[in-house]
Amino acid sequence: KMIYVNGRLVDETEAVLSALDHGFLYGHGLFETMRAYNGKVFCLDAHLERLEYGMRILGWTEIPGRRDLSEAVYGTLAANGLKEASVRLTLSRGIGAPRPDAATCGSPTVVVFAGPVAARASTVEEGWKVVTVSLRRNLSSPLCKIKSANYLDNMLARSEARQQGAQEGIMLNTDGYLAEGTMSNIFLVSSGKLITPDAGSGILPGITRDVVIKLARRLSITTEERAVLPVEMDKADEIFLTSSIMEIIPVICCNQHSLIKGNITALLAKAYQEHVLSVSCGER
Ligand code: PLP
Repeated sequence: KMIYVNGRLVDETEAVLSALDHGFLYGHGLFETMRAYNGKVFCLDAHLERLEYGMRILGWTEIPGRRDLSEAVYGTLAANGLKEASVRLTLSRGIGAPRPDAATCGSPTVVVFAGPVAARASTVEEGWKVVTVSLRRNLSSPLCKIKSANYLDNMLARSEARQQGAQEGIMLNTDGYLAEGTMSNIFLVSSGKLITPDAGSGILPGITRDVVIKLARRLSITTEERAVLPVEMDKADEIFLTSSIMEIIPVICCNQHSLIKGNITALLAKAYQEHVLSVSCGER
């Protein structure tokens, strides 16, 4: 397996980073997980834009160019002979002094790895069980809006959900409204309407979420982005989750309430597959 590290494609065994990298010392980094279909990275521009937004929020003085990052991603896919793949692009603030002062850092570290796409697990096909977890998205922190490498809140929330036999945990925000999953965005379907927490609800602005909203509007499904009360989950007719890697995951059980894999979820999942196919055909 070949991994891209700072401009070089090297064997996985040689892909090592400095112990003084601030990504390692302070979690000062960002990442994107993406899907390649037919050799094309789906929504690559949107992922790079979100990454740049993150770098600006974190005050990075040197922002790697989109062209270079895109070449790094495609170079990694080519080196591994992959067309259908999951790709992870990770950037850290780089090597600096062993104290929390980013001004001591040099250039950002860039790492890309890619792997084959695992067959969709039957649990994803059939639908996931989700539970509301105790950890909340902090509305006063800009970190929930960026895909920071500091992922410990998400991992703690996920393990809380796992302990309850659920595949995903749903986090509320510090105002008590619905935010998102630990690695996915959430959508509810209620009386034929599609409802999802808005950008101010402490969510990562998901790229799959954006695509799903556009597809829903194209299909004339009324779509609301707004503050969502947790009780709306209990009353929802359908619930699904979205993420680049997992695409659309139906929810079959939410906090002990059983749900069906409903028509609107199925309609959007089909529209998503068709959209992916139509934008992935042809050359990159
Ligand atoms: N929310 C969180 C916290 C995530 O980590 C992710 C992706 O991993 C998402 C939402 C979904 O984002 P996207 O659709 O861009 O993959």
